[in-house]
Amino acid sequence: MNIVDMHCDTISELYKRKKEGAPGSLRENGLHMDLGKMKKGGYLLQNFALFLHLPSFDNPLDGVLEMADLYYEELEKNADLIRPVTCWEDIESNRSEGRMSAMLTVEEGGVCMGNPAFLRTLYRLGVRMLTLTWNFPNELGWPNLEQPGEKDKKDFVPDFRKANNSQGLTETGFAFVEEMDRLGMIIDVSHLSDAGFYDVARAAKKPFVASHSNARAVCGWCRNLDDDMIRLLAQKGGVMGLNYCPAFLTDVAEGECAHGTIAAIVEHAKHIVNVGGSDCLGLGSDFDGIKTHEELPDASYIPLLADAFAKAGFTNTQIDKILFENVLRLYREVIG
Ligand SMILES: [Zn+2]
Repeated sequence: MNIVDMHCDTISELYKRKKEGAPGSLRENGLHMDLGKMKKGGYLLQNFALFLHLPSFDNPLDGVLEMADLYYEELEKNADLIRPVTCWEDIESNRSEGRMSAMLTVEEGGVCMGNPAFLRTLYRLGVRMLTLTWNFPNELGWPNLEQPGEKDKKDFVPDFRKANNSQGLTETGFAFVEEMDRLGMIIDVSHLSDAGFYDVARAAKKPFVASHSNARAVCGWCRNLDDDMIRLLAQKGGVMGLNYCPAFLTDVAEGECAHGTIAAIVEHAKHIVNVGGSDCLGLGSDFDGIKTHEELPDASYIPLLADAFAKAGFTNTQIDKILFENVLRLYREVIG
């Protein structure tokens, strides 16, 4: 097994714990993801996102730099098991030495406050993927959960099935896409509005990702991609990562709670491969950023997913592509 996963929020959870004075390390913790669970699950590479909830920070750069410090501190302590990577050769040399790899990503383009110098500084710090927006509008563009004109209404509850088709990237967002392409930083459209997705698809010269998004035809949340978007992402050589969040997997009646099943993940995989082909699908667990998936409660359970793919009729070649090859191909092409 060589599991490659494009998204988890474990570092942000550890950061939160540290701020609260609660113990927690990357090596061992009670979260979805730690090094012991990854080892048991057969991991080759994990993307560790620095996720920032923008309203909680006066200056988001402070937060992202503190989290990056925590990431490197944890990796230094655990260099026997895992090491940071910033290019393809790093991944290969870790693999040949029997170590896992960690890639640094940022989930919230607002940390750059629209300043390309901050984007380049994050690149120099080792960040190789940036999710342009989370669920708030920022200097770069609009997310899919913001519902324009309605957010100020009393008791506002966003409609998770209503995609934003009108507000995409800002001018600064387009400039960031160009600069990320030039630098070799992967553009991540998860959370971005539908209009923003199409702006990226038009403007990006290199393949891009939806690091943790499923298929909207299978589960109607607007965080998932519709078939047209899946086709376009695949045509551009991009990859989307299967998200294990129960709410993004299965439609349920209003007021009911979604339960996470492996069968639901397999349904999304089948649909995405049917629509976009075998080269556009990878993993993007969203571990430690989601409600626990009942059948994949942590990283050590991932072999069950591989078994389920085989039972569902995926070939070994297809399974390898989904578990690691597609994402590694994209990394090699984009980050070098
Ligand atoms: Zn997310």
